[in-house]
Amino acid sequence: MMEAIETPGKTKIAVSTPIQVGGNVITPKQLATIASAAGRDAHIEITPFRQIYVEVPVDEKERVTEALQQAGLEVFPAGAVVKGLIACQFCKGAEDAGLATAQAIHQAIAGIATPVPIKVAYAGCALGTSEPLLKDIGIVKMKDTFSIYVGGEAKGIKAAAAELLAEGLEEGQIIPAVLKMIDFYKANAKGKEKFGKFIRRMTLEKIREAAGLAV
Ligand code: SF4
Repeated sequence: MMEAIETPGKTKIAVSTPIQVGGNVITPKQLATIASAAGRDAHIEITPFRQIYVEVPVDEKERVTEALQQAGLEVFPAGAVVKGLIACQFCKGAEDAGLATAQAIHQAIAGIATPVPIKVAYAGCALGTSEPLLKDIGIVKMKDTFSIYVGGEAKGIKAAAAELLAEGLEEGQIIPAVLKMIDFYKANAKGKEKFGKFIRRMTLEKIREAAGLAV
């Protein structure tokens, strides 16, 4: 996994388009803004998790961030953080697929510092085209309720599908549960223990309790 290995005097920022109907769509103007704000010699990297890493001089970070935000892009820290939400394309429509819910989750979690990066996916229906069961945390809208899956791992020879943590959840339960899980992981992970490994070591029962979802 490429993570934030930085050139001396430079820093990496993670740039993404907002969570929107249509998915990971970027306009020519936004692409041009990334190129012009970062400069012709900048190191730019496409990540597999919906973010573009841009390496910029440390003293230019604020200026570049402002220019990107003015172009409608979002800027988060790179490295060991919760990545921006990996959302689906909301093909069933903003309301039915829960666009506002996904945007709120994204704003609540993106950029939280963690021992190792955490990927969270959101799918607007059970077809799960954002691959929620291959992410550390997967949230799936099931008509009028939500399910949360945890512990997915897409990489390596020990790849694993996430397991169902809870189902039939109300919209208002999602963000508190995800934030509590992240806090619990931060407080109890052994060094740079991966989230999936942590989930399996702790057991789903303990994670449910920590997330406030025990019944
Ligand atoms: S998860 Fe469902 S709503 Fe979202 S893009 Fe895929 S099929 Fe459409």
